[in-house]
Amino acid sequence: MLKVGVLALQGSVSEHIDMLSGINNVLPVKVKTIEQINEVDALILPGGESTTMGKLLVAFNLLDSLKKRIIDGMPVWGTCAGMILLSNKLLPKTHTHLAVMDICVRRNAYGSQAASFETTAIIPSISSDPIPLTFIRAPYIESVGKQVEILCRVDNNIVAARENNMLATSFHPEVTNNDSVHRYFVGMIENII
Ligand code: GLN
Repeated sequence: MLKVGVLALQGSVSEHIDMLSGINNVLPVKVKTIEQINEVDALILPGGESTTMGKLLVAFNLLDSLKKRIIDGMPVWGTCAGMILLSNKLLPKTHTHLAVMDICVRRNAYGSQAASFETTAIIPSISSDPIPLTFIRAPYIESVGKQVEILCRVDNNIVAARENNMLATSFHPEVTNNDSVHRYFVGMIENII
């Protein structure tokens, strides 16, 4: 059984847990302590509000241990605010982040909350069928380093990428009824650990 954690400080935690619950051989768990982080095989950083999550990571003394586990190879997937936390360059530079993934991310790149939108796209590495993409005051990736594989663009902006053990999506698969990206992440975990 793969123990897949969801960082449970703030944001769309139960939605990710529900999605993972439908996948065989996965035990989803909410994590919020260093001990719990050290016990999981992989971790999802959910969407929510990245400034708050960054502050809570510092307040709960989790930032350094979490960063170390990711650098040591733990599979991790950041959705939206979670992607912001993973990025090693953030525009505008406003708050604490993990700075582990070689991507430059622009926060609130589509504008205000009212500019949130839904679309569909085929992401060939993930599924041959179109999947729904939900953007909620979303960031996008402005540029990536050499080791980063671009998985999806929408209107020419990069909205999904992978670097070794790290997956980042601007959008929120956990609020849809399509678990393709969760299944892709579980496949990634199985290949890595
Ligand atoms: N706009 C949020 C932030 O900057 C991210 C939004 C989300 O996770 N849906 O943290």
